[in-house]
Amino acid sequence: MTSVDKLAFDPVLAEVLEGLKHLYAEMDRGYEQVAAHYGFECTGCADSCCLTRFYHYTFIEYIYFRKGFAELPESRQAEIRSRAEKYVETLEQIESQAADGPFRMMCPLNESGRCILYARRPMICRLHGVPHEFVPPGRSKTVFGQGCHKFAEKCGHLPYFPFDRTRFYMRMSEIEAELQKKLGVFHKSRKTVAHMLICDEVNSL
Ligand code: SF4
Repeated sequence: MTSVDKLAFDPVLAEVLEGLKHLYAEMDRGYEQVAAHYGFECTGCADSCCLTRFYHYTFIEYIYFRKGFAELPESRQAEIRSRAEKYVETLEQIESQAADGPFRMMCPLNESGRCILYARRPMICRLHGVPHEFVPPGRSKTVFGQGCHKFAEKCGHLPYFPFDRTRFYMRMSEIEAELQKKLGVFHKSRKTVAHMLICDEVNSL
């Protein structure tokens, strides 16, 4: 069995991983431009979005993320994995009870309000917070999304400044398709950051 960490350092995947790095940089520039327009800064938020149960749907992000994780000292990895195990255990308990209400638990990578793998954080962690729009695949109607509650508090009175995520989603899907072709995997990933930290084998991709 091949480990995800091995894949992360496989030269065959270097180009496709580089493509994701560029896409992330483009997203960051887009987000910064929009945030600057509103004068919105993501600081002083007690209800951190890192408490949100986000699922991530691409293998490319999973592998890219694990590359950064593999570079941390082993003792740090063990600490973080132990928090990730706790997270998954709690999430499974809540889901098995089909409990109402949103699941809120701090992401195992967040320490004192900071993301340990900030440069490798997934797409949704980069784009969350400001109002946006996108056209879902195969549809023609634009979907609009609100900013986070902090945005509503600080900047909710301001007129919408266009932030179209469609190009990011489309490029992500192209990169993912390229990766899946190389791996011979043709289904969707669905993992929280905690799952991405504790699953190791390609079979569990
Ligand atoms: S990966 Fe980083 S930015 Fe994303 S939820 Fe976890 S701590 Fe927050």
